[in-house]
This record gives sequence, structure tokens and C-alpha cells, in this order.
Amino acid sequence: MNILVINSGSSSIKYKLIEINGPSVLAEGLIERIGEPVSNVAHRSLPGTPNVLKVVEKSVIPDHSRGMNCILSLLTDPKIGVIKDLSAISAIGHRVVQGGEKFKAPVLIDGAVVEEIKAHIPLAPLHNPGALAGITTALKLFDQLPQVAVFDTAFHQTIPAKAFRYAVPHRFYQKNGVRRFGFHGTSHQYVTRCAAQMLDKPVETINLISLHLGNGSSVTAVEGGKSVDTSMGMTPLDGVIMGTRCGALDPAVIAHLVEQESQPLPEIMRILTRESGLKGLCGSNDLRDIHDLIALGDENAVLALDMLIHSYRHFLGAYFTVLSRVDAVVFTAGVGENDPAVREGVCRGLEHMGVIFDIRKNLSLKRGKGGVISSDKSPVKVMVIPTNEELEIAVQVRRITQGLYPFH
Ligand code: ADP
Repeated sequence: MNILVINSGSSSIKYKLIEINGPSVLAEGLIERIGEPVSNVAHRSLPGTPNVLKVVEKSVIPDHSRGMNCILSLLTDPKIGVIKDLSAISAIGHRVVQGGEKFKAPVLIDGAVVEEIKAHIPLAPLHNPGALAGITTALKLFDQLPQVAVFDTAFHQTIPAKAFRYAVPHRFYQKNGVRRFGFHGTSHQYVTRCAAQMLDKPVETINLISLHLGNGSSVTAVEGGKSVDTSMGMTPLDGVIMGTRCGALDPAVIAHLVEQESQPLPEIMRILTRESGLKGLCGSNDLRDIHDLIALGDENAVLALDMLIHSYRHFLGAYFTVLSRVDAVVFTAGVGENDPAVREGVCRGLEHMGVIFDIRKNLSLKRGKGGVISSDKSPVKVMVIPTNEELEIAVQVRRITQGLYPFH
């Protein structure tokens, strides 16, 4: 059963064709700079196999419709294609960032769902319009295929009110939808299921703290396989320090900056989103550069790394009190999967909380590979699990098209 997973942004379309029963990736690619005079196309058939075939080209792709047609041509190309025609695809899964309170699970897309996603644009003005462009185009082009929307926010819809409400007047919640939604839900859900398998326990019995640490990052407390608290808020700006986003901040700082810097609010928000976090602290948002800077004695880079680890530990500590028991601490995404120094910094000195970290296992773990990095005696297991959001989307699409949803 082949499922095409589409992650559409305002000027890009990322895609993966997944044979879900393998599971294996038949093809993947990225079209960037849609709508600009020249667009970039990068496609790989049978990635990760000796038979991989790559296409990297410049092309003119004025809109999402042309982009989707380009993807279909690449997938069915007589030389590099992996399928004969559209009939080899069983369903399409679309990643949607914000589903609000309306969508607690993936949903088969129809006209009403499109309208609902549109209605959620004020809550995700940077993300939902791009997803909508992908969905409306795909509905027209592939009208014979079932299409499913999978929301980043859905996994967090089990968070109780005491953790999702903000202490602002009730009307701001009722009228303006001001509350914590949380993001990266697909990734947190995927690693939760993988951790349950690794611990050989049913997912509905598993309690863990999932650290999705990438350029954008969030930490989630999972009780009985369900999200019960998460670090990102109404938007993905809140929570831990990120590559270019500030994370948690006293809201009065924003008013102070608007006044003192004589800059309009949108500019301050742009700076907090794109020029803050690690980049604002030391000039780079990439941990690899930051380790190089530290080796050269750069004090700002030393402080940035210290602050980053402190901010991760802050949420880790908080979620130990939120959960009744912690079976595992899970690291995932670019930083979590690849940076042993960060993992050690986060887990160091937590024996009093049942975390007995194994420095050797941590260092010897192959980059990009999963495994357990706590001692065999550790009551709380520490794990690295490479995330796979596209596979999780494909799994959810299969379940919903087979009428098997929800999971528990
Ligand atoms: P995104 O949020 O864009 O999906 P990723 O999960 O791909 O981000 O993570 C990207 C980040 O992962 C980089 O900015 C970098 O800080 C970190 N990273 C990637 N590879 C390594 C590595 N080998 N060592 C340390 N950090 C890494």
C-alpha cells in the first residue's frame, strides 16, 4: 500500500512516497522557491538503497499546481519513476500544523474540513495557508484518491485544561482561542509508539518525557501514551530555547522592546522568531558550529550551550512532577539524535530522579541510530529514537482509510 505524504509550505512542497507495509521509502523530494522566477527541484528514487537515482534541477514552477504535477511526473517517469501511474497510490496524507480544538485526530478531507483549516489561519498565519495551497491543489489533481489531514496539534488535544489554559481573562480563551496547543505532535506520537515497542509495553501504559530537539524544539510529557503537557504554546515560539526562536519569555519584554527600540510590533516578533534563540546568543543556530566556536574559546557560544541545556532541563524537571511515574526520557530530532554532548548535559546528575546515564553508551551510539543510553540498572531508561514524521503520517493515513482510527 503506497501512501504519498505531502508537507506543503507557502513556497515549498516536501514529499515522500512510502510503501507502508515495508515500510520503505520509494521516493522523496523537495520543491523550493515556488512562485519565484527559478524554482529548485530535488528528487530521489529509492533513497538509502544501492539503486538510488537522484534528480536535482532548476525549473519554472509558478504555483503549487505545477509543483504537484512535477512530483507526479517524477514519480511516474519511465526512467527514474517508481510507479506506473496514479493508481499505484492508495491515499495521500497532508501535514497541517494547526488544527485547533476542532481536530483531535487525523481526518478524511472534504469541503467542510478545508473550510475548518481555513478558519484556523489566524492561529497559524505562517503555516496553515501553505498546507491549504497543497491540499486544494491535490484535491483537484488527485480527486480519485482519499486524502487525509494529519495535524501537528492533534496529539496534544489530550492535555488537560489546567495545563493548556493561560491565566488571562476567560473571554480571551472563549473569543480569541488563546490557549496552549503544542506542536511536533506527530513526532512525539511516533517516538512514544517506538519507545513502547522498545520497552515491550502496550503504548497505553507508557509514561515518558519526549524531547524533540531540532531547529524548532519541544518537550512533551506523555502519560498512558497520551500527551498531558508540552512546552510549546499557542504558537511554536514558546517553550525551550530554539535555533532562532527565543522560547519562553516574560511577555512584558515585548512591550518594553517596542517602546525602547522604536520598532513596530511585527519587527520585534520577527526578531524573536528568526534572530533570537541560539543565533541571537552566539551568531549561529547550528549546534555543529557552536561546538566549533566553543573549541575556539568563544564565550558567547559557551553561554548559549549552557543556556540551551538549562532550558531543556527546566522542562524535564517540570515534567517529572507532572507524571506519576517516568519510564523513559526520549531524545529525538536533529540535536537529540546527533549531539551526545547535549544529551549528557541534559541527563547529568539526575540519579536522584532515577536517571543513571551511561556516558560510554551515549558516545558510542552511531549518529542517526537509535538505542538506550542509560545504564542497565537505571529505573528511568534514556533513549535516542530517530523521528520519522512522514512514516507516522503514513501510518495514521492507513489507519483512517481502513476505518481503524483512533489508536486507543
Ligand atoms: P528542524 O526543526 O528544522 O526539523 P532538525 O530536527 O533537522 O530541525 O535539526 C536541525 C538541527 O540539528 C541543526 O540546526 C543542528 O543544530 C542539529 N544537528 C544536526 N546534525 C547535527 C550533528 N551532527 N551534531 C550536532 N547537532 C546537529
